[in-house]
Amino acid sequence: DRLISAVAQTEDEFVDRAMRPKTLADYTGQADVCEQLGIFIEAARRRSDALDHLLIFGPPGLGKTTLANIVANEMGVNIKTTSGPVLEKAGDLAALLTNLEPGDVLFIDEIHRLSAVVEEVLYPAMEDYQLDIMIGEGPAARSIKLDLPPFTLIGATTRAGMLTSPLRDRFGIVQRLEFYNTQDLTQIVTRSAHYLNMSMSADGAQEIARRSRGTPRIANRLLRRVRDFADVRHDGFVDCEIASQALAMLNVDEAGFDYMDTKLLNTMIERFDGGPVGLDNLAAAIGEDKETIEDVLEPFLIQQGFLQRTPRGRIATERAFLHFGKVKPQP
Ligand code: ADP
Repeated sequence: DRLISAVAQTEDEFVDRAMRPKTLADYTGQADVCEQLGIFIEAARRRSDALDHLLIFGPPGLGKTTLANIVANEMGVNIKTTSGPVLEKAGDLAALLTNLEPGDVLFIDEIHRLSAVVEEVLYPAMEDYQLDIMIGEGPAARSIKLDLPPFTLIGATTRAGMLTSPLRDRFGIVQRLEFYNTQDLTQIVTRSAHYLNMSMSADGAQEIARRSRGTPRIANRLLRRVRDFADVRHDGFVDCEIASQALAMLNVDEAGFDYMDTKLLNTMIERFDGGPVGLDNLAAAIGEDKETIEDVLEPFLIQQGFLQRTPRGRIATERAFLHFGKVKPQP
């Protein structure tokens, strides 16, 4: 798998659990999101209400799951976690909903991948805390209605655009997570290094932060790989030079690109003269599926100004050409 994939890998889940911030105060960056959520949580607590349903969107690895857990923790309630593709039948969702205590959080990751039948069950549950479900089949089928305790649905998605509008409209609070700046990531790396009992200089942490594509999950993963390098080739201490050597060995370049980013941009530059090139063509040319390109590769490249999405297709910018030591041909 890609070392710098923002998508969680098994090792991440395991190692990151201890390092996951548990409170809003511990959650680095995303200042606007934290400020607003802090107020909504405080207000709901004072009124002894369940928090309004919350939709969190943003690219993988930016802290959506972490934030959902923090919200439950700050509200002092339990959290049940599931994901869109896992909930196949209406009954799967009904089972979760009927097991909630008042005020609990139900967290649905990848909520844009819910099936239509499951989504139908969610609407009255979100709106009126009512479960409306058919049991049995054929002539014996009947519909039952159940009251649910007030609860908070937290949905996470990498693609707000793929949510149906009736679902989207039922969220009282919508928050968007942004890529982290180097300063915030440096703080995250420093904190994680502390949990890993590593000794590291400030510029060592910054070097890892700078090459982590604005993504805490990647920062934490690179940190672990740099630690391996420092332990084996040196005495375990990480400074800028050692971090830089380790990252070079791992083929993570100055901008945080790995072979996939390089392949994507290079293909656009060399095979398509920088574009515009359609997503289908691009996917075929680099042998990646469209969803990975759109969800995982592109957001960071777009945010950093290496790539643009236009109605006519994707374009590699002048900055992308420069990064590979080339000059963008003038139209
Ligand atoms: P997502 O659900 O958006 O894919 P996660 O919530 O699983 O992302 O976050 C990935 C990892 O990054 C977490 O394990 C956590 O350790 C770290 N992380 C995410 N956001 C933050 C943050 N704001 N501060 C510190 N660590 C963070």
